[in-house]
Amino acid sequence: MLHSLRKIIQAVSAAEDLQSALKLVVHHVRRAMRTDVCSIYLYFPQTDNYVLMASEGLNQASIGKAFLPSGKGLVGLVGLKAETINLTRAAEHPNFYYVQETGEEAFNSFLGVPIVHHRKVLGILVVQQRDERQFGTDEEAMLITLSAQLAGFIAHAEAIGGGLRQDALADDESLDLHYEGVSGSGGVAIGHIAVIAPPADLDKVPDRRCRNPEEQVEAFQTALEAVRRKIKIVSRTLARNLKNQEQELFEVYMRMLDDNALAGEVIQHIRQGQWAQGSLRRVVQQHIQAFEAMEDPYLRERASDIRDLGRRILAELQQTNTEVREFEDSTVLVAEEVTAAMLAEVPAHKLKAIISTLGSNNSHAAILARSMGIPTVMGAVDFPYRRMEGLEVVIDGYMGRIFLNPSQDLRHQYEQAIVEEASFTKELEILRDVPAQTRDSHTIPLLVNTSLPLDVSRSLAQGAEGVGLYRTEVPFMIKERFPSEEEQTDCYRTQLQGFAPLPVTMRTLDIGGDKNLPYFTIKEDNPFLGWRGIRVTLDHPEIFLVQIRAMLKASEGLDNLRIMLPMITHVNEIDESIRWIDQAYAELCEEGYQLVRPPIGVMIEVPAAVYQARHIAERVDFISVGSNDLTQYILAVDRDNPAVADLYHTMHPAVLMALQQVVTAAKAAAIPVSLCGELAGDPAGALLLMGMGYDSLSMNAASLPKVKSVIRNFTLSQSQVMLQQALQQVCADGVQGVIRDNLKAAGLTRLHSRYVGN
Ligand code: PEP
Ligand code: MG
Repeated sequence: MLHSLRKIIQAVSAAEDLQSALKLVVHHVRRAMRTDVCSIYLYFPQTDNYVLMASEGLNQASIGKAFLPSGKGLVGLVGLKAETINLTRAAEHPNFYYVQETGEEAFNSFLGVPIVHHRKVLGILVVQQRDERQFGTDEEAMLITLSAQLAGFIAHAEAIGGGLRQDALADDESLDLHYEGVSGSGGVAIGHIAVIAPPADLDKVPDRRCRNPEEQVEAFQTALEAVRRKIKIVSRTLARNLKNQEQELFEVYMRMLDDNALAGEVIQHIRQGQWAQGSLRRVVQQHIQAFEAMEDPYLRERASDIRDLGRRILAELQQTNTEVREFEDSTVLVAEEVTAAMLAEVPAHKLKAIISTLGSNNSHAAILARSMGIPTVMGAVDFPYRRMEGLEVVIDGYMGRIFLNPSQDLRHQYEQAIVEEASFTKELEILRDVPAQTRDSHTIPLLVNTSLPLDVSRSLAQGAEGVGLYRTEVPFMIKERFPSEEEQTDCYRTQLQGFAPLPVTMRTLDIGGDKNLPYFTIKEDNPFLGWRGIRVTLDHPEIFLVQIRAMLKASEGLDNLRIMLPMITHVNEIDESIRWIDQAYAELCEEGYQLVRPPIGVMIEVPAAVYQARHIAERVDFISVGSNDLTQYILAVDRDNPAVADLYHTMHPAVLMALQQVVTAAKAAAIPVSLCGELAGDPAGALLLMGMGYDSLSMNAASLPKVKSVIRNFTLSQSQVMLQQALQQVCADGVQGVIRDNLKAAGLTRLHSRYVGN
C-alpha cells in the first residue's frame, strides 16, 4: 500500500494539469485499493455544490455534470463535517442521496475523505464498492494522505489559473483573478515583472525569452565544455581511490553531456527562444521527474546525479552570462527571498514594487521595502513567478494582492488610487516642520529607522528628529566580504553627518535569523532561536571591535552617536559588550581621537528582557523596544513564515502588557524608553505607545507623516483612555475594535481606510 501511495504521489506531482492529476488519482487509487469506484468531487463556492470532476467506475457521461448541494448526500456530509465517513451499507445512512445519472445505486460500501487546504474543503475523494466491504483504517489513512497532497495541488493549480473551478468564473469579467500574499509595505503600483534568481539554484531559474538564441547556444556550449573539463580532472585525480562502479559514474556524467542526450535537448529549447538557463532548468527537471518515477531504487537515485550535473552547468552559465540586465521603467522585482543585494541591483527610480514569495510582514526584506516606501507583497507562496517574466501586474501592497494582466476596470481603479495616494502624501508634506504635538500639548519626538545612505535625505525630508535605529547589518549585506574599518567609518560618518546635531542610534551588527551575510552563512534548524544578534558578535570580538571602532571614529567632532545592543537576553551580555566598547574607546583616545563616550542602550526584544527590564535599565543609558522580535517571541510566531502570518499580532493584549511593563521599568530607573519596531509606524500603534508613556518613537520614514498627522489630531488623555480599553481586551480582534471605535469618535475616519499602517 505504501509503495502504491508513493507512486501515486509522484504521478500526481508530475501531472501536466489538474484534470490529468485527478484522472491519475482515481485510476491509481481504484487499482491499489481494488475497489469498483474511485471519484473526486470538487466544491464550487459560487453554486455551493460538489461537482463530480473525475471518476473510474461511475457513468463517464455524468462527469462535470452530476453534483450534490453542500450538506446533501454522503458527499455533501463529508464536506459539511470536514470529516471522513466510512460505511459498509451506505444506502441505510439517513443522508444517503442517490444521484441518478452516475449509476451509483449499485454500490453498497462508501469511504469519503475531505480534501482540505487551509481550513477550506476543496473537494471530496470517494471510493465505493458493490459488496458490503469494511474499508480498513490503513485504507482511510492512505486516502487522507493522498487528499492532503491533492489539496496542495488543487490550490496551486487555482493560483496559477489552471484550476477547474475557475472555468465557471471565466465568463464573469468583473472578477479579476489574483494571487494572495501578505502586506509587506503599503501602497499600490502597476509594473512589469522582473525575476531575480539566487545563484546556482536551478529550481529558481525563471523562464525568459532570449534576444539572440545563437549567442545563448554558444554560452551553453562554453559552460558544457568547462563542466566536461572539470569532471575529467576530478575523475583523474580520484581514479586511484575509486572503485570501478564509482568511476563509471563519471562516464555516465560525460555521456549525459553528450549532444545526443541532455545537451542536445537544451540546445533545442534555446533555439525555440528560451534563454540557456531556463532551457537547462526545463530539461533537467523533466529528466529528474522521469528518474524519480522509476521503480528501480538504483535508477531512482540517478535523479540526484542529474540534479548535480544541472547545478554545475548552471554555475558555469551564470559566470559567463554577459547579457547586461536591462530593467523596465516600471519594474516589479520578484524573488523567492528578496535580499538587500537584489534591491540594489534595480535602479531606484525604476523599482515600483516588490513581490517576495517567501517571508512575511515582519521579515527584514519587508522592513527594508517599507523604509524605501515601495509597495510590497510578501509570502505569495502560490505565485508561479518562474513563468511570469515581463508580464504586467497590479500590486496592492495594503491587501497583499497581486493582479495579473489586470482588466481595464481594475487598472483604472488602481491608477486612481496611485494619484490619490500621491496627493495624500503631498497633503502631509506641510507637517514636515511642525512637531508631533497632541491637541492637549503633549510632544513626542518621532525618529526614523535607517539602513541605507539614501535614507538620510529621505528621512530629513519627512521631518525626522533623529535616528532611533540604524540597522548596520544592511551595509554588510550588500558586500562580498566584511567591510573594513575604513569602509565602515565612511558609511557611519555619512549617517552621523547627515543628521547632526540630531542623535543617531547605531545598532551593533544584528545578523542571524532571516539576515544572513552571503559570505558568513549561518545554517540552523531554528535560526530565530539560534545564533543571532549580540550572540554572534560577542563570539567574534574581532568583528565587534572593528565595528565599534568605526562608529566611534565616525562620531569624532559630531558627538551625536548612540550605540544600541540587539537581542540581549542575559545581563552579562550587556556587561561584556560595555567592556568591549570601553576597550575600543580607550584605544582610540590613546591613538589621539577626540571622542565623547556615547550613550549605550539595549533593545528589549525577548520576553526575558521584559521581565528583567528593571535590571537592564539600571545598567544602560536608554532602552528601546524591538517590537518585531518581541511579538514573535511572545506569541511564538515566526515573523518570517507566511503560513502563520495571521497569528502575528503586534497589538495582541499580551504584547501590549509587555510593552507597558517595559515603560514602568524604564521610568523606575529614570532612563528614556523608545520603541523602534514596526508598531511605532502604525498610526494606531503609535497612539497606544504614547498612551503608555514612551518617550519617543522610531519608524520607517514613509510612515512618519501619517503618524504625525494622527498624533496632532488626538490628545494624550484620549490615547490613555484607548489604551486602558485595549488592555482589557482578551484578543487582538478586541483591541482592533477598540481602536476603530476611538479613531472614529475622534473623527479620524480616513485612518480606517487602506491608508492606515502597513
Ligand atoms: C525589532 O525586532 O523590532 C527590531 C526593530 O529589529 P529588527 O526588525 O531589525 O529585528
Ligand atoms: Mg529585532
